[in-house]
Order: sequence, then C-alpha cells, then structure tokens
Amino acid sequence: MRTPQPSSPVSRRVFLGQLVVAAALVLAPRRGRALEPLPQTKKLGVALVGLGGYSTHQLGPALRATRHCRLTGVVTGSREKGVKWAHNYGFPERNVFSYDTMERMAGNPDIDIVYVVTPNLLHAGHCIAAAKAGKHVICEKPMATSVADCDAMIAACRAAGVRLTVGYRLHYEPHHAEFARLAREKVIGPFLRMSGANGFEMNSSATAKTAWRLDKRLAGGGPLMDMGVYVIQAACMAKVEEAPVAVTAQFGPVTRPKVFSEVEESITWTMEFAGGAVANCRATYGEQVSNFRAEADHGWAQFEDPAFYYAEPMLTTSRGPVNLPKVNHQVAQLDGMAMELLDGRPSLAPGEMGRRDIAIAEAIYAAAKSSRRVEVQA
Ligand code: NAD
Repeated sequence: MRTPQPSSPVSRRVFLGQLVVAAALVLAPRRGRALEPLPQTKKLGVALVGLGGYSTHQLGPALRATRHCRLTGVVTGSREKGVKWAHNYGFPERNVFSYDTMERMAGNPDIDIVYVVTPNLLHAGHCIAAAKAGKHVICEKPMATSVADCDAMIAACRAAGVRLTVGYRLHYEPHHAEFARLAREKVIGPFLRMSGANGFEMNSSATAKTAWRLDKRLAGGGPLMDMGVYVIQAACMAKVEEAPVAVTAQFGPVTRPKVFSEVEESITWTMEFAGGAVANCRATYGEQVSNFRAEADHGWAQFEDPAFYYAEPMLTTSRGPVNLPKVNHQVAQLDGMAMELLDGRPSLAPGEMGRRDIAIAEAIYAAAKSSRRVEVQA
C-alpha cells in the first residue's frame, strides 16, 4: 500500500518530522517492557487529567493534529469546563469525569490512555486511579514528588497490566533523538564533560499558574523538579541512559527570599558518572536560560539556547550543524507514544526512567541540604 504524501509545505514538514522520529524510534535501543501490539484499526483515545495551562495550550491542540491518537475524554474539577471541552473537541459528555470518579473510566471503550497533567504531588493518585480503571498512563514530568510514589505508580501499572510512560517529549523530538543516537553509537564520544542549565523567571505574583509551583508539598521542590529534570535527562541521555553514581549540590543564589520561602529559587549540582564523566548543571526560577553541551575527547555536541523549550532546538556538533525537520513536540510525543503502544514496542520514556530521575533529584536535594556528596540509589 502506498503511504499517503502530504501536499502542503507545512504538512510535508510535519510528515518529514514524523519520519525522522519514526526512524529514530526504530534505531533507538529497546527500553521498558514490551506489550502485545494493539489492533491498528483505530486512533487511540486519550483522556487528559487536569485542564490547566499545559493541557489547554499544548496537549489539547496537539491532539487535533496527531495521526495515531485523539482526545476522547477529560478529568476535571469543573464539570462545566469539561462539557465545554467535550463540545469543543467533539467527544461525548459522558466522557467528562471528575477526579473522584476516575474509576468510572473502566470499560469505557473510547479511552485507551489517561494523560495525567495535574500538579506534581497529585500524579501518583491520578496515575494509580487510571491504572485501576485498566487504562495506559502517560504521566507528566516530574513523575512524582518522591521515589516511594514512583514505586507505587509502577507497581499499580504492573498489577493492572498497563503501560506507564512519562511525558518526556524530547525523546520524540528529532534533534534530541539525534543527540541520543550520537551518544549511543559513540559517533562523538563517549561524552565525558557535560554542562547545562534550564529555567525561567518566575513571576512573583502568585497566579494560579505559579501558586502550586511555589508550594513545596504540591510541587515536590522548586526549579529542580520543574526545569532541572530536563538537564538531568540530557546528562543521562549523553551517558546512554546511565544514572550518575553520586551528586553534589548547592542552593542559590537567592534574590527574592519572600517569593521563594518554600522552594529553592535556584540550584546548581554536579552529577558524577561511573568512569569519571561529570555533568555540571543548574535550574532556576530567576532567569530565562536553557542550554546544554556535551564534550568528548575528540568532539562535542551543543544545544543552543533554548535547548529544552517548545521551540525547534538548534543542535551543533564539532562536525557541523545538525539540520532536521521542525516538529511540534507534543504531536511527536503523543504520536510516538501511541505508535509504541500500537506496535507493542517498549517505550522510550518508561516509568522506570521517571523514577530514576526522581531518585537523582532526591539525592541532589539531600546533597544541597547536607553540603555533602550523596550517592544516588537509582
Ligand atoms: P496548571 O497549574 O496550569 O494546571 C494544573 C491543573 O491541575 C489545573 O487545571 C488545576 O485546576 C488542576 N488541579 C487539580 N487539583 C489541583 C490542586 N490541588 N491544586 C492546583 N491545581 C489543581 O499547571 P500546568 O502548567 O498545566 O502543569 C501541570 C503538569 O504538567 C505539571 O506536572 C507540570 O510539570 C507539567 N508540565 C509539563 C510540561 C512539558 O513540557 N512536558 C509543560 C508544562 C507543564
């Protein structure tokens, strides 16, 4: 059968991007658990849990453009809002659930995947409820606010026989997928020295968007949990998904102590890998910054600022610039994850990877609090 070719330049670019992502996925190492392939006859139905900024502005619109999945339900605290989403996205009102009625998704044939997009503390409960309803789960980053919660989420999904993946969109973005390939195939490398930073300037007025991010209980921490996970991810990607053996870390600088009374404003840390590779990293709510560089003895690879935002990343290596098609990150991720499920392939971003990153974050906080080197129990 001939593959349909998109005609407009925009759709052709998206299509080419999808081909690159598909190629990257085929070349990628197999991670996580394999599942039985699902019937390829339909688009998978996705229910979004939490209709805040990320769902409204990125995931919802992306689900209009995906080829392998579509929005078929929502879980929200406001039925009125959920009904508006149902009309807007064309799914039945019966697929609007509240946080307390998620178990009613069990047996609902419209919903295959539940995508958890709530504040970090709530990820565990929403993920476990989805698993109990027999649905595959995509959980936003950071996976949870503790390793103990990650373990409970992984156990619940295993017990239910469903897949748990983390919304690590960059594994499905062509430039980051290419960086992973460069590291994996040691085209440049092995990488020995990494450095990176990620952050934005948090507005001091506690809007709905910022309020929970400044609440230590709900967020699990500050910019390390929100923005730093991307730097942790990139450093581990440079080391072919190896976890560091130990970390050291410092909080600061502090410029607005009143705003950041519960969570850190900024944090720097160093990850030490077996074999001597080192990553010097920073996460901040004090300035807009987003970069990453990895050096080997005979070459380097670098993401220009912004390395981790939604824009097209610019990857340059000691061999020259890497030119790959621009994709919408969320479309690529959602289609990539749907294709993994449909094909029964292991995920590029399994729950175990999310757990590893929370174990690293816990070690970083312990190191910053104690001013000591802390071994990572990943
Ligand atoms: P947001 O504040 O805009 O939305 C959070 C949603 O959760 C809201 O609809 C809110 O009503 C709901 N909610 C339910 N219970 C709540 C409670 N007890 N307190 C506060 N809100 C509650 O946040 P967001 O920016 O959409 O982030 C949601 C999740 O998505 C976070 O885990 C965040 O890290 C993640 N995220 C990921 C990316 C990415 O690029 N992968 C980008 C943005 C956010």
